[in-house]
Amino acid sequence: MSFIHSNLFRLILPLILTVIIFIGLNNITLLVQANITLASQMPYFLFAICILLCQSFNQGRMGMVAVAMAVAYWVIQTRLQSSLSTGTTKIEFLLLAFTFPTACISVYLFPEKRFFTMSSVLYVSIVAILFGWGAITVEYVNNNGINDTWQNILFIIPEVSLLPFIIILYSLLLVFLFAILILRNNRPIDVAVYSSLCISTFTFVFFQYPFISSILFSLGGILLAVGVITTSHELAYVDQLTNIPGRRALDTELKHLGKKYTLAMLDVDHFKKFNDTYGHDTGDDVLKLVASLLNETNGNAKVYRYGGEEFTILFKNKYQDQAIDYLEELREKIAEYDIILRNRSDRPKNDKTGEKKRGHSERSNSVRVTISIGVADSSESRNTQHVLKAADEALYRAKKSGRNKVSV
Ligand code: GH3
Ligand code: MG
Ligand code: MG
Repeated sequence: MSFIHSNLFRLILPLILTVIIFIGLNNITLLVQANITLASQMPYFLFAICILLCQSFNQGRMGMVAVAMAVAYWVIQTRLQSSLSTGTTKIEFLLLAFTFPTACISVYLFPEKRFFTMSSVLYVSIVAILFGWGAITVEYVNNNGINDTWQNILFIIPEVSLLPFIIILYSLLLVFLFAILILRNNRPIDVAVYSSLCISTFTFVFFQYPFISSILFSLGGILLAVGVITTSHELAYVDQLTNIPGRRALDTELKHLGKKYTLAMLDVDHFKKFNDTYGHDTGDDVLKLVASLLNETNGNAKVYRYGGEEFTILFKNKYQDQAIDYLEELREKIAEYDIILRNRSDRPKNDKTGEKKRGHSERSNSVRVTISIGVADSSESRNTQHVLKAADEALYRAKKSGRNKVSV
């Protein structure tokens, strides 16, 4: 996977962009001042684009995050433009800092679908309830004043930020939690929520800077849109089962090859029988495992799932005599790998295979698979289709001559 898809990059991107904004803040502020109407509407415009993209790319939950951000921005623009010490501004701040992350996190209550569905109607209701509760609380404080307990909770350290200390702490804690989620799972929705929480935290902490909410929420809108687009790109190019690049990625790569390269076609041996014996789900697990073993191939190999139980390995700047050792090494590694079967393989599809399987699993509950490999390089023809065909023919010979072989 390339660096821009890595979890580390996704983790630091919002931070780096925010730092860049603060470095150029004087100029950006002047720019915003000169185009104040446009700049203050910009976040709404970007969030609307996100929602439309989410609809066509089936990523409704990111659209929900866009809704939460748009509402939070609206609250900031309409309610929080006066000094923190006046009226209920301080308590409104606190409420926003709690309701916004809560609204973000509640997207996890819903499955991933398009945006314009019943889920989103429910989601908007949740957001309405959250912010409605905020408005009622503000109304109450407005009538009854703010008591000492709240004053203590909303304690401020003016040297650091004009924002109540507890809000900063809470926001940072959530940002930190989602950073861990990204490092562990690297799921697009985690990244979207994380970026939005970063943006809101920075906005709250540096609230005293003029126009900061318009500037940072615009950045938030851009990050969200970029997230939606890269996720769709990934859906198109990365195979969902094995998490390695798929056929489309291979086709693209083949168009950009230099003079010298080697292609290997790999096929799992007797995989139909494997599926029949252990079930399709176990077959899927084995494909995942094989893909992860292939990914460890040495010699700068790039691995693709060609389709089904077939894979392709590309060696750039190598002819087959330079690549063959790596492939032999790989073939042996897979053949010697003990695959431990999980419980669900104890439920074969019919009684006959069930008996066979039970007899087998009394002795051991680990199995092995082998692969056959066909190799060809660009020394005779640089045409990628020819090389691919030659590799396929070599694979056929490897199968013919007994499988678990590398054939050139
Ligand atoms: P050989 O290649 O050694 O000649 O035998 P084979 O049984 O592997 O050959 P074939 O290409 O005819 O069968 C491929 C089988 O792979 C068919 C299908 O059941 C299985 N298969 C293809 N894609 C998947 C998948 O995504 N998941 C699982 N579980 N099985 C798959
Ligand atoms: Mg096959
Ligand atoms: Mg096969």
